[in-house]
Amino acid sequence: MKIAVIGTGYVGLVTGVALSEIGHVVTCIDVDPSKVEKLSKGIPTIYEPGLEELIKKNISSGNLHFTSEHQNGLPDAEVVYIAVGTPQRADGAANLDYVEQAALDIAANIKQNIIVVIKSTVPVGTNFHIKNLINQHTTNGVHVKIASNPEFLREGSAVKDTFHGDRIVIGTEDEESAEILAQINEPFDTPIIKTDISSAEMIKYSSNAFLATKISFINEIANLCESMGANVEEVAKGMGLDHRIGPDFLKAGIGYGGSCFPKDTNALVQLAGNANHEFNLLKSVIEVNNNQQVLLLDKILNRFGNIQGKRVAVLGLAFKPNTDDLRESPALVMIPKLVSLGVSVIAYDPIAVNNARKQLGTEISYTEDLTEALKNADFTVIITDWPEVKKADLSTYNQLMKEPIVFDGRNCYDLDEVKKATMEYYSIGRPDQA
Ligand code: NAD
Repeated sequence: MKIAVIGTGYVGLVTGVALSEIGHVVTCIDVDPSKVEKLSKGIPTIYEPGLEELIKKNISSGNLHFTSEHQNGLPDAEVVYIAVGTPQRADGAANLDYVEQAALDIAANIKQNIIVVIKSTVPVGTNFHIKNLINQHTTNGVHVKIASNPEFLREGSAVKDTFHGDRIVIGTEDEESAEILAQINEPFDTPIIKTDISSAEMIKYSSNAFLATKISFINEIANLCESMGANVEEVAKGMGLDHRIGPDFLKAGIGYGGSCFPKDTNALVQLAGNANHEFNLLKSVIEVNNNQQVLLLDKILNRFGNIQGKRVAVLGLAFKPNTDDLRESPALVMIPKLVSLGVSVIAYDPIAVNNARKQLGTEISYTEDLTEALKNADFTVIITDWPEVKKADLSTYNQLMKEPIVFDGRNCYDLDEVKKATMEYYSIGRPDQA
């Protein structure tokens, strides 16, 4: 099939590349010409394991094209995916400006009846709104059908998730569109669920809200464990073996971040409010997460009192390992607070340093070398559980730092190993090793 994908961010790029890999002829369109220039040369604009090889392979085979001009990608397309951002507005609701602009771009450029597939995460009702917007603005008598195909990939394993996901949700108005989309997606090794459009839109928000709830729940348990002398890892293990609960997303830590959970939980609270429903559970989930991001700072201040003038190694800037994405990363909360308390920060991340510099500026120093970060640090704060951090030899803290004092927001290390390493170690929901 001839497919166009509007937006080449984390979702659009991976979707376009994956669709080209399974045999479709795909044109990825992005309004950012610098992205298009790089991608056309086979240079990925995001860090995602396995993506570069697939981009290069499918450009060479002629299945994958990039353009910044909608009139180059849209007229021939039989199916058009919208994968532009839906960031959070000041009131918490999803900002649909980019999706609406993409709709107008479609209306201005299509030459035949097509199916428009919305991959962006959008509030219930948006698919119908976008369909109407396009059909009101087409000039040559053509019209579109709409389909909701929410995305569930995880940054850091986006390629793997796209080829071997847990499910593909296809929400349509009619069986014919559902069948066409099922055929497009059939080569992916993933079960397909066909629903109505509103349910598909709701599945995405409910899934993210549920996962965020699991994280805030275990973080609350972790905080209780600290007051009661229990160990949250033992508790989570004991809980997770119950099949009704399951072991995933029961890892206590400094809280969730990223481009999805914070904005999607807020958007669902707003969406519920519009339907006169107070989503109190989800409001608490958000509040717990906001508090969780600063608890580690309380531990630091309890330990030191005044931290002015100290040198601090912050390990990890990305919101999670294997991505260069900093959106809503706990690092963006922690680092400015540390700086405001007068410390000098050296931040380590293996791949997110360039993105971080744009957001955190020159007030702190950056390194892609873990040992460089630890050298002469008064204390270390772990924000992201990068494999490089998790597999670090614990004696390095002792060897390189002024004093081996570590505040671990991701519970990277086994407490028995920590004891052997004679370091001062504070983690989340586990007994301190002071
Ligand atoms: P992103 O910000 O990384 O990328 C969006 C891209 O769209 C940008 O490159 C931008 O230049 C481009 N764009 C905007 N308007 C355009 C237009 N009119 N025409 C062409 N290009 C345009 O966003 P993302 O992280 O890929 O997220 C996209 C959507 O997918 C969001 O709704 C998000 O909630 C959802 N989602 C994201 C993830 C994730 O892990 N990032 C996972 C699941 C769902």
